[in-house]
Order: sequence, then structure tokens, then C-alpha cells
Amino acid sequence: MPKVLIVEDEEPLAMLLRYNLEAEGYTVETCMRGDEADIRLREDQPDLMILDWMLPGLSGIELCRRLRSRSETERLPVIMLTARGEEQERIRGLATGADDYVVKPFSIPELMARVRAMLRRAKPEVVSSLLRSGDLELDRETHRVRRSGREIHLGPTEFRLLEFLMTSPGRVFSREQLLDGVWGHDVYVDERTVDVHVGRLRKAINRGKAVDPIRTVRGAGYAFNDQFAAAS
Ligand code: CA
Repeated sequence: MPKVLIVEDEEPLAMLLRYNLEAEGYTVETCMRGDEADIRLREDQPDLMILDWMLPGLSGIELCRRLRSRSETERLPVIMLTARGEEQERIRGLATGADDYVVKPFSIPELMARVRAMLRRAKPEVVSSLLRSGDLELDRETHRVRRSGREIHLGPTEFRLLEFLMTSPGRVFSREQLLDGVWGHDVYVDERTVDVHVGRLRKAINRGKAVDPIRTVRGAGYAFNDQFAAAS
């Protein structure tokens, strides 16, 4: 699985990122200081780095500049996190060698999409755009879903919901976790909205089919059924 290094001194944000990346199956390491990350990156390299701009020890921009000057990290994909209104700095950041930047506050699904897109470009061998289980297939790149080869048309929320569940088969997500992961943590949506969209998703993917890939776990939430591949 792809390895991601998060260099961020805001602990709650670092934890939120870690949680979401791990839920997608990435191996995650975090670092709170720029100078520590610099030392850490001399040992071995992750597949991608999420780098905050303002860091104790060594700024993100200086760290990025150093990485680009060393052959082992010259091509390491870097997504820079910047605060709002740092437009000038953003330009400087890209000039320093960051591959992409995301302005805080950002939505988690958006950042996850950037991470996937960047890994697909930089390391196609470590990330596959196709999620497959049994007769169900979801292509993250083309946004196509098929069941038994037949194309299924999903709304954008149902697509993200299915994608989110399929990346962690068997894992039960509460409605709150699904709201965070699919809708974004800064969006206020009623938890019942999750039920409505799960209902729509089921209707679309189960038409004419006996086996439901989504499990409702009473009192807990929803999961992608890890027995589905065998049952379908
Ligand atoms: Ca910071």
C-alpha cells in the first residue's frame, strides 16, 4: 500500500488526515516539525508527502527546497497545505517544487482526491484506479460503476459513498464517520441524510440482484460486506 508522510504541527488536523488516509488503506506516518521531517526523509522515502507551510524547526517551503536538491527526494510528490490568502506564497511554494497545494480549510474528500490523483500520476504502480469486489466494479478515474458488466448510473454522492465503503471492506462506519469521509467535516448535514443516500445507492446497484454488497449494522452504521465477493 502507498506510504504517506504527513508533516503538520496542528495535531487535530494531522490526526484527521491520518484517520482518513488509513481508512483508504494507506500506510501513514506523521511528523510535527520541519527539521524532524528533514532527518526522517534521509532514512527512506514515502510515496507521497503532505506538507504544511508553517512548521516549527524548518518551514515547509525550506524543507521542500532541500528535498528537491537531493537526488533521493528530488521527485517525491508533495502536496503543500497553505492558509487562505497566501496567494503570493502559493506561487512561491510551487516555484520551490511542491507538486500541488491545498488551501486551508479544505474538505477531506477533496484532499483525498488530490492524493489519489497525484499518486496515480507519480506512482501508477502503487495505486489502482479500479476497485473491484465480486461482480461490482468502480473506476475512480472514469467515475464508472458496473455490476456484472452492466453500467450503473450513480449520483456524485452515491458514487463517493460507494467508493468510500469499498476502500475498506468489512469496516463498519458510523453515520458520523460517513458524513466526515464522504461529505466533508466542515459541512453540516443531518445524519439521516446518510440513510437516504445509502438507500438510493442500494436501489441503483441491487436492481435485479439478490446479494446486497452493503451491510447495515444495527446501532453502528454501514459497511461494505467483505463476504460479498464470495456471495455474488
Ligand atoms: Ca502549521
